[in-house]
Amino acid sequence: MGGAAAFLGTDAARRLPEYPLGVSDACPRMAPAVHGMGQRQCQYCGTTLHTTWADLGLQPLANSYSVDRETARTLAAYPLHARYCHICHLVQVDRAVPAEAIFSDYPYFSSYSWSWLAHCRNYAGAMIQRFDLGSGKRVIEIGSNDGYLLKYFAEAGLSVLGIDPAGNIAEIARNAGIPTETAFFGLDVARDLVARGISADHLSAKNVLAHVPDIRDFVEGVAVLLRDEAVFTVEFPHLLQTIRGLQFDQIYHEHYCYLSLLALQGIFREAGLRIFDVEELTTHGGSLRVYACRSTACHETSSNVDAVLAAEIVAQLDDPAAYRDFERKLRGLKADFLGFIANCHDAGKRVVGYGAAAKANTFLNYCGASPDTLAYIADRSSSKVRRFMPGSGIPIVEIVEIKRTRPDYIAILPWNLRQEIVGELGFVRRWGGRFVTAIPAIEIF
Ligand SMILES: [Zn+2]
Repeated sequence: MGGAAAFLGTDAARRLPEYPLGVSDACPRMAPAVHGMGQRQCQYCGTTLHTTWADLGLQPLANSYSVDRETARTLAAYPLHARYCHICHLVQVDRAVPAEAIFSDYPYFSSYSWSWLAHCRNYAGAMIQRFDLGSGKRVIEIGSNDGYLLKYFAEAGLSVLGIDPAGNIAEIARNAGIPTETAFFGLDVARDLVARGISADHLSAKNVLAHVPDIRDFVEGVAVLLRDEAVFTVEFPHLLQTIRGLQFDQIYHEHYCYLSLLALQGIFREAGLRIFDVEELTTHGGSLRVYACRSTACHETSSNVDAVLAAEIVAQLDDPAAYRDFERKLRGLKADFLGFIANCHDAGKRVVGYGAAAKANTFLNYCGASPDTLAYIADRSSSKVRRFMPGSGIPIVEIVEIKRTRPDYIAILPWNLRQEIVGELGFVRRWGGRFVTAIPAIEIF
């Protein structure tokens, strides 16, 4: 949910052709990697990558929910392999799928969770106050979707501009009174805006960076678009928390990179940007909000920056060995989950899933799940019900199916929404139903 998902469409792949790389029907489960299967070069610095962080096998695009089981189980699958660069510290997935195939379409997300909108409203208020953003100042957001964040700045009397690549969504924003440029943000777009007399007093990007195919071009564009003392804030899931929490289900083809402050600081520095503050947020299982400015700007550097960097060094995010260890833990997690399922079946217990999220597909396909593993997955979204999970082929059903079938266990797949889901499904307690989460370890409650 939120700007990132909306910007580059976590559901964007849904409308892709099933074999976007022209793979022949004779080999539907294995598509050729576009950039070769041999050595991998760092997408940022070009160094040859030697360290696997997570090899999750062949997986279909995480959002390609299918209308029938056979299609779901035979979708083209691509290597989902994340590696660490020991020179620039950027963690990244192999480019097995061309960006144009993933991001060629942008579904419109018309609803945001209450908690996400509150997060955005609080952000706008905090930025206006901290950086003294008065009327006449311009706030620009990259990945602005339908303007849901910018409207809070506009209501405060500021001039706003959204940048979003999806024409249909930009149109919705413009109709709602939020001026929006239709473009993939990068250096060329920034130069064009500046040439037209448009630059930012405050620039925001929420959960966009992981989706950016060329992070260098993007960050250089940011440096161009900022006025002298302007501030750029960017939010992203923090790699440190992803590793600590074994949140490997955040990995999918559409997420090109997984960011530490360590990696980002180097990338920003090369583009002429300086990180002067950072906040730790609870969104997406633990995120960072980074504050940056031009290297020549006057913003005082907070001790928070060194504190987060120190935590990353203690966790050895600058050491290939720390990354190699992640996969060993994933194998243990997978064995524990499949062991739990086997024990349930042996005892005649029925296990179903809840939450047909993208991350559920990474998890289930890594575990080799099928409808024998989870009989079904219940979901609130009418656009997913009666479809099938890509790869695993598990059917997606309405929540009422839980009441009808009275399962013994409900595996909550979007573990980050656990509290909300347990509240919603409290009725399962009536027949002694229990919940289970598998990340970072099996927990039954
Ligand atoms: Zn690198």
